[in-house]
Amino acid sequence: MTTIHNLGFPRIGARRELKFALESYWKGESSRSELKALGAQLRARHWASQQDLDLVPVGDFSFYDQVLDMSFALGNLPERVQGFHGDALDNYFRVARGRSATTPEAPCCGAGVAAGEMTKWFDTNYHYIVPEFTADTRFQLDSTRLVEQLTEARAQDVRAKPVIIGPVTYLSIGKAKDGADKLGLLERLLRVYAELLDTLAAQGVEWVQIDEPILVTELDADWQHALNTAYHHLKACKVKILLATYFGELAENKYLAANLPVAGLHIDAIQGQGDVQQLLGLLPAHKVLSLGVINGRNIWKTDLNAVLDWVEPLAEQLGERLWIAPTCSLLHVPVDLDSEQKLDAEVKSWLAYALQKLNELRVLGKALSDGRASVAAELASNAAALKARRNSPRVHNPAVRAAVAQLTPALGQRQNAYPVRAAKQAARLGLPAFPTTTIGSFPQTAEIRHARSEFKAGRLDQNGYQTAMRAEIARSVREQEALDLDVLVHGEAERNDMVEYFGEQLDGYAFSQFGWVQSYGSRCVKPPILFGDISRPKAMTVEWTRFAQSLTSRPMKGMLTGPVTILNWSFVRDDQPRWQSCYQLALAIREEVLDLEKAGVRIIQIDEAALREGLPLRKSQWQQYLHWAVESFRITANGVGDETQIHTHMCYSEFNDIIASIADMDADVITIETSRSDMELLGAFENFQYPNEIGPGVYDIHSPNIPTQEHIVGLMKKAAERIPAQRLWVNPDCGLKTRQWAEVLPALAQMVAAAKVLRNTA
Ligand code: GLN
Ligand code: ZN
Repeated sequence: MTTIHNLGFPRIGARRELKFALESYWKGESSRSELKALGAQLRARHWASQQDLDLVPVGDFSFYDQVLDMSFALGNLPERVQGFHGDALDNYFRVARGRSATTPEAPCCGAGVAAGEMTKWFDTNYHYIVPEFTADTRFQLDSTRLVEQLTEARAQDVRAKPVIIGPVTYLSIGKAKDGADKLGLLERLLRVYAELLDTLAAQGVEWVQIDEPILVTELDADWQHALNTAYHHLKACKVKILLATYFGELAENKYLAANLPVAGLHIDAIQGQGDVQQLLGLLPAHKVLSLGVINGRNIWKTDLNAVLDWVEPLAEQLGERLWIAPTCSLLHVPVDLDSEQKLDAEVKSWLAYALQKLNELRVLGKALSDGRASVAAELASNAAALKARRNSPRVHNPAVRAAVAQLTPALGQRQNAYPVRAAKQAARLGLPAFPTTTIGSFPQTAEIRHARSEFKAGRLDQNGYQTAMRAEIARSVREQEALDLDVLVHGEAERNDMVEYFGEQLDGYAFSQFGWVQSYGSRCVKPPILFGDISRPKAMTVEWTRFAQSLTSRPMKGMLTGPVTILNWSFVRDDQPRWQSCYQLALAIREEVLDLEKAGVRIIQIDEAALREGLPLRKSQWQQYLHWAVESFRITANGVGDETQIHTHMCYSEFNDIIASIADMDADVITIETSRSDMELLGAFENFQYPNEIGPGVYDIHSPNIPTQEHIVGLMKKAAERIPAQRLWVNPDCGLKTRQWAEVLPALAQMVAAAKVLRNTA
């Protein structure tokens, strides 16, 4: 018998029930008990759908974030929320979301509460609340939540396996506010973990899953040592520990992982398939090896026969010691493919969401325990679906493949180096010093959203929609001229989302209705599905841009999303490497760039908001990624003539470790986020002697605050100490689509006034 188990289930609900319940509670439209009841209902439903598994995760449900849950279980609350007298759940939301000073929800504390910092969970698009530490941090166990959920699960007769984040991963992903050595807290922390495991043992728990994904990253000696210390400390506890790793290969850490004193080890056997043979030799004979053979990070059907081909001999060898599971928690995939009513039927037949992945797990488990014949029909239909996908002409476009095969570096090369281009562009554009511009989008007003939903529902025809959008574009142009901005944008009224908008117009993309994945808290994203070779049947943005340009004599920027960002925010193919899909996207967007240029557009901005997000977990693999990512941008952007100015935008500010690659992209102008760091982050550009132009964001668009002219002038003066003034632009941090016009107009007025002051004093 092969044990089948799951590492975690998506908590948001097949219809995003949790999202809506949370948001209604936060708005004060429903009660805490209603919210808690909905949570219990979702847990019960999700356990019911996993009832027959040999081990079912418990504790994976969260009202906001599993890392924040862990902080509360460990009594590690930021000082600013300690001593709160209200309900624990409300305090939890205070850390998750912050509280302004004025809400009635925090009557006991006059002052506001800053939200916990949020950051990406390893290389996923899930964001967790960063644990905060100081040298004095003390931990204190609060197992209430976990024990309650365990009791519920038991009442439902599921074979419960509590899931917690491991102590070493917990420390490593947190932040020492006072710069203290986090490992100095390990001993204190382990005492509480031991207490937690003992509590679970007293509840009759046999197995506990402890997640230590840091084992797939590069670890220095201190952190390796911490893992040894931790698990030697915890081995006295009377539960069996399944140490779970995922999101990559163990590689050099497999010796460490195999020898930690735990009862079982789970690995991502897709990304880490290469580890398995060696692990078999390293694992002590009593240990369980759990193989993650179903991809928890994508939406494709698993090739069940292929998995069996390589796992059957292992099952033979390991017997009861072999477990199988998805690679990681299913948190990172949508819930139920059966919800999809509109998804292209052919594409749908190739997909599996969480519930379907669990079915695959059942089939594999049965095949391993009772032989393939016992699931012959399931295996045959799986094989047929995979075969259809492999042979579908919708997946394979020979012309696109040929174009990628013929790529040469020359394609990514501008005609001349930046200084030559800059002179020609200056002559053509005639911009003043400190030119002003914005990042692309203007407010997505209620009218815009209404028009779009009417259009999608078929109640507004193509003409009506176009008229409505053109009116919005005309309004943006008017406002920008009145503000006296130098380089205008059309405002992106017609775009729902910077990736979806392009995906919808490219061949090779499909869109789901219910493919929601939690990004943070109640926020979900619905990544488009890149399923086939990418091509662009026709121009995507040229008409809108041409229209916008026709309304003004000032330069109008053409606005595109870059290939790396489109790739990183999509569900991508598992039948070819990421770089290949990226090059295909690059060629398609390149055609758009060239069409814009032909239409007379003088400045083209290609956003790469997610370039950094794609960096691999292991630094040793960064160069390889950066190579094809930068090359993709170059292919997209650099086919234009010298006098066409290429901009790119990145909404983050850590450039130190990738600055050479950023320079390699060779955009004429890059706009970045810097306002919150007081321009210090320009240091990376200064030290590298970045040769091209930079627009350091001068105000934070995430805040409703209106910046003052003096503040902006001050920031730009600081910028000019680091970057020669003649290469500086003045612009906000990011797009303005989430703001109101009433905020945007005064903020930009201050910005333009600041630029004028700078021109007159420089
Ligand atoms: N051009 C986009 C906008 O202004 C850029 C958004 C982003 O960088 N996230 O909305
Ligand atoms: Zn941005």
